[in-house]
Amino acid sequence: MSAENVEVIVAEKLDPGFCDEIASMPGGGNIRKCFACGTCAAGCPVTSIDDEYNCRTIIRQIQYGMREEVLKSPVIWLCVMCYRCYARCPQQVNFTDIMRALRHLAVKEGYAPVEMLNKEDEFDKKAHQLRREMVKKAQ
Ligand code: SF4
Ligand code: SF4
Repeated sequence: MSAENVEVIVAEKLDPGFCDEIASMPGGGNIRKCFACGTCAAGCPVTSIDDEYNCRTIIRQIQYGMREEVLKSPVIWLCVMCYRCYARCPQQVNFTDIMRALRHLAVKEGYAPVEMLNKEDEFDKKAHQLRREMVKKAQ
């Protein structure tokens, strides 16, 4: 890990109930079973192009209670909801649905940047368009 990626944990800002809160949301049930093996991150298409995004790290932050840091972080909007991490996880941690829960809380509590939310449809449309073009070219 490079020096600029080292995160300082501020004890007063930790929310000890955060992990239980996520565990109680749809798909969050197995989050405490994560043993940080990193298999999810190794197969993630987003991590493969952006090392700032790492599902194992996000799960650790949730377990530590870093509620504010996680919910206000732009990285929670990078996931493409492909379920590859869930399919590979030996502990059946459903990170994709955990990500949905994080986004839900980020929107509900005003952490999500409004401008980014307004562009969500545009992001999806562009991604699908690019995929469509590549699929057609591959035929
Ligand atoms: S693959 Fe599963 S157990 Fe391993 S780090 Fe990812 S979520 Fe945790
Ligand atoms: S669902 Fe998100 S975190 Fe999981 S592999 Fe796909 S992009 Fe990565």
